[in-house]
Amino acid sequence: MASLTVMRLHLWVVLRDTSSDQPSSSPRRMISSQSGGDASQSPPLSSWSNASNLGDMVTISFGLYSDKPRDNCPKFLTKSQLGAMIITESKVLKGLNLENKEREISDLYDLVRNCQDCPLYKLAKNPVAGAGSVDTEVMFIGEGPGEKEDELGLPFVGKAGKLLDEMLESIGLKRGDVYIANVVKHRPPGNRDPKPEEIEACWPHLMRQIKIIKPKLIVCLGRHSLARFLPDIGPISAVHGRAFKKKNQAYMALYHPAVGLYHGGMRDTLFKDFAKIKIALKKI
Ligand code: SF4
Repeated sequence: MASLTVMRLHLWVVLRDTSSDQPSSSPRRMISSQSGGDASQSPPLSSWSNASNLGDMVTISFGLYSDKPRDNCPKFLTKSQLGAMIITESKVLKGLNLENKEREISDLYDLVRNCQDCPLYKLAKNPVAGAGSVDTEVMFIGEGPGEKEDELGLPFVGKAGKLLDEMLESIGLKRGDVYIANVVKHRPPGNRDPKPEEIEACWPHLMRQIKIIKPKLIVCLGRHSLARFLPDIGPISAVHGRAFKKKNQAYMALYHPAVGLYHGGMRDTLFKDFAKIKIALKKI
């Protein structure tokens, strides 16, 4: 393996124009790193991840060369070097992807803050766009903000939110592990149900949110959320705790946590249904 120590590993990030299918012939920026034959000695990920600020799509390529005469250059990488390269590439991609997602979701929040596409914004104190991890497999979608949510600008922070936290904990998850949103982003006055035209007006925001998060599983919390995503599936009383697939997206129907507050006998059902989220995730 002595010959491998003369190898240099170069990593470069080539920014790709979203307007073109071809990689830019003159990358706007090139990031290069070297290590003496051992890919695991590469610089820390943080030193590369700034690249995501420079473009919407990136292509990452790896190249190898030797500064010794060609005859002395080994033709193949060792298995561990190749493995390290692959792991490094996937980490870099994940880092870039996460930064993009965070930027996009923040743009969406700005949009919601200024939205006047339905009358709900007029009486609301704060928009409740959504909260949680953009790097999650599960996205919970409820109906609309209540009084407490309206006050704080965060989803599920009242009593129903407390129960949601308990249920998340029961399957080993925390708020920060999932993303939570609603079908309408401003509070319907007096906690009334959102009207179909309000849900319709707010739909593009939710669609954009889903596109950014790309969850493996969308959990519909309550009948309004379920009826909008799976209108033909039947009443929530018949399908709660079940998973469905529509156009390559997996969904699960769950009662809204508020049901557990108003009907104490339903708490068990809620927890049992919640446990099926883990099972569904394993199967997707
Ligand atoms: S509820 Fe949705 S559509 Fe209506 S004003 Fe708020 S963000 Fe806009």
